[in-house]
Amino acid sequence: MEVHNVEMVMSAVQPSQYPTDGLPEIALVGRSNVGKSSLTNTLINRKAFARTSSQPGKTQTLNFYKVENQVFFVDVPGYGYAKVSKSAREKFQVMIGEYLEKRQALRGVVQLVDARHAPSREDIEMYHWLTSEEMGGLPVLVVATKADKIARGRWNKAEREIKKTLQFSDQVSDFEMFSSETKYGKEIVWEWIEARMLD
Ligand code: GDP
Repeated sequence: MEVHNVEMVMSAVQPSQYPTDGLPEIALVGRSNVGKSSLTNTLINRKAFARTSSQPGKTQTLNFYKVENQVFFVDVPGYGYAKVSKSAREKFQVMIGEYLEKRQALRGVVQLVDARHAPSREDIEMYHWLTSEEMGGLPVLVVATKADKIARGRWNKAEREIKKTLQFSDQVSDFEMFSSETKYGKEIVWEWIEARMLD
């Protein structure tokens, strides 16, 4: 998609605050620092629209970005904050559970993992949750970020390791390498999103 117009529409912590436009939504999930803001900015051709490196402990909200008046990107706050209290974690899980499991407008989830490392325990838990029956067959695209940081000759090995660790299922999910430095993968990620918008 050729993007000219993006609006940060709203932050929500509960369903009554979600947008009511009826546009399809694509959620972006991943732990803090994985490159979620950079991927968002790459997809929408901006340098610094989405906040980068959101601070652990900051107010955690779902952020809705309206892209080209056709689709919302929903920035789901980074999971894996060891420092926040148990009650904050529980609230956060209720908030994202309410959204990911129940939102009618949600057409797919892009889960980011770091291309350089085996997925963390939380990455694995998130992937299994996203691909579980609770989600009712929601399409999932696993994007391995920062691919420019590993040599091209090692990409296949990195992909195999990530898939093995996640117990990746080709039936319920897709995989793509990505770099916000080189823009590698941008077109394919957009194609995946556009296909979900038509589902
Ligand atoms: P977020 O916390 O998930 O939103 O992560 P950010 O997008 O803020 O990225 C965290 C750090 O990783 C920043 O210093 C980015 O510049 C860097 N980064 C993100 N994506 C890439 C990438 O594709 N390649 C490289 N080399 N660095 C990246």
